[in-house]
Amino acid sequence: MIEINEHFLALQNNYLFSEIAKRVKAYKTEQPDKKLISLGIGDVSLPLPQAVCRAMHAAVDDLSRKESFRGYGPEQGYDFLKEQIVEHDFASRGVTLDKSEIFINDGAKSDTGNITDILGRDLLVAVGDPVYPVYVDSNIMAGRKDSIIYLPCTAENNFVPALPGYRSELPESDPALPQGSPDLIYLCYPNNPTGTTLSKEELQVWVDYARRNHSLILFDAAYEAFIQHEEIPHSIYEMQGAKEVAIEFRSFSKTAGFTGLRCGYTVVPEELVVKTSGAKVQSLNQLWNRRQSTKFNGASYVSQRAAEAVYSPEGRQQVQDNIAYYMANARILRQGLLACGLKVYGGEDAPYLWVKTPDNFLSWEFFELLLQKAALVSTPGVGFGSCGEGYIRFSAFGERESCLEALGRIHQIL
Ligand code: PLP
Repeated sequence: MIEINEHFLALQNNYLFSEIAKRVKAYKTEQPDKKLISLGIGDVSLPLPQAVCRAMHAAVDDLSRKESFRGYGPEQGYDFLKEQIVEHDFASRGVTLDKSEIFINDGAKSDTGNITDILGRDLLVAVGDPVYPVYVDSNIMAGRKDSIIYLPCTAENNFVPALPGYRSELPESDPALPQGSPDLIYLCYPNNPTGTTLSKEELQVWVDYARRNHSLILFDAAYEAFIQHEEIPHSIYEMQGAKEVAIEFRSFSKTAGFTGLRCGYTVVPEELVVKTSGAKVQSLNQLWNRRQSTKFNGASYVSQRAAEAVYSPEGRQQVQDNIAYYMANARILRQGLLACGLKVYGGEDAPYLWVKTPDNFLSWEFFELLLQKAALVSTPGVGFGSCGEGYIRFSAFGERESCLEALGRIHQIL
């Protein structure tokens, strides 16, 4: 008999996006003449920057000639890309990293999901609520369904989760806190879905907690390029001591339109060590390196040349222009929704707006109202966790005309 990984059976169906698709399809059948607008998508709408496309053409030419052909590349990624990352994404913000600490991948989803391969089964995991579902599902697949703590992120706490308790052996521990003390903490800032950020002080609090409590922070910075306010941290390594306790995930998907092309990277600092059960000290960088060498063949040469071009002067300008376009959408949506009398969070340093439903509508009820009365697709907040109930998410990744028309329609029905 073949045994399966039964933990997969503990997963909930990917209800959110399939349910949206089902309802949208039904609406289209009933109202074939209505022009639907989607502000639900988390995918980009602008094409790849020209500098990126040119680099890909050149990379294909490399592969077509005997003297410049490349076969299997290093599983950790090519130095030409890692050098750009180290200089432009980190040194420019005062963070010193070595190339050996950067692992190029095919996007942040893979590594945010795969990283627990190198960690033990019996870990207590903390995630925000609402949450990017990959963190939860990948831990359920690994058998941690009953070991996940959900930290509420609500308007009342400004979408900054309260610190969980300390380990029982520490004097700070508080037995009155029922949830336990997490080994692993997922933080995603700028946040999907709430579009909110953490200040340096707020992020430092988490780093200090992790150092004191011997927790590991998995910091998802997939949306850092959308930050507009200078004082907001782009990387967790801008915080003192963070290299001892944090792994960071980055992506070219939203930054540079790579959702179809695929490239991202993970940072695992050399300082990041954990104690094994034999009380030996183990480097997570070494373990992740070992894992990647075995299970990953590297991102394609063409994707990595494309990503390298993101850092060229021309590429940087084109990427900035695209981000400015999306963030102008976010501003327009934010102002328009506020003018409709709605409560709006996020959208200032992130491409998502987290909107409180009016009149205590439940998420799905408001989704349905927008669909039926305004032919507008949104994402019900409750699909990201119970604290998302009573919210919907709008994305700023659409086209300008769609954003403007959507606002006009919302204005009419509210
Ligand atoms: N992390 C967050 C918070 C995301 O919202 C997404 C994509 O939507 C990802 C990671 C995955 O990005 P990638 O396309 O790099 O796999």
